[in-house]
Amino acid sequence: MQYPRSYIILHHTGAEEKNAKQVRKYHLSKGWRDVGYNYIIVRDGTVVKGRSLDIPGAHCSASGMNHKSVGIALIGNFEVRSPTEEQIAALISLLKKLVKEFNIPEKNVLPHNGVPGAKTLCPGKHFPLSRILKGLNGEEKYWKVQCGAFSSRENAEQFAQRLRKMGMSCFVVDP
Ligand SMILES: [Zn+2]
Repeated sequence: MQYPRSYIILHHTGAEEKNAKQVRKYHLSKGWRDVGYNYIIVRDGTVVKGRSLDIPGAHCSASGMNHKSVGIALIGNFEVRSPTEEQIAALISLLKKLVKEFNIPEKNVLPHNGVPGAKTLCPGKHFPLSRILKGLNGEEKYWKVQCGAFSSRENAEQFAQRLRKMGMSCFVVDP
C-alpha cells in the first residue's frame, strides 16, 4: 500500500556525487534501509528512482514530511553552484508528472528549507525555485537554451532536442 503523498519536497544532495548509486551507498552506510529520497536527478538530467513510495521516506523529518511527501534530490551542492540546465528541465518534467499522479497542489511543492520546522540550507541558495515553479505551472511556455551554459553550441542543440522529446517547447539563444 502506498502512503498518500500530498507534498513534494525538493533537495540538493549537498555533495558532488558521481551518480545515484553513490547517494544510495552513502545512505545505506548510515544504516538506512534504502536511499532516503524517492527520486534522484543526476547532472545530465537522468531521473533515477530511489526509495519505494510503499514505505516512508528519509529525507525530511520536519512536519512529518517523510510520511506524506515525495522527496526529490538533485545531485550537487547548490550553496556553491546552480543545478545544470538538464537537471532543471528534468525536475520540471518530473514535477508535472507527479502533481498529476498524486493530485498535489502547487503550493505544496516546497524546498526543504521551506518546510515548517526544517533547519537546513537545503536545497541551497542557488536553487532556482521561482523558475522551476514557473515551469511547472506553464508560465514559462518557451524554454530558452542558452549556448553559454554549455561547452559548445552542439551540446546546447542536443539538450534542446532532449527537451522537445520531454514535450517542452524551446529554442537555442546566444550567448
Ligand atoms: Zn534536503
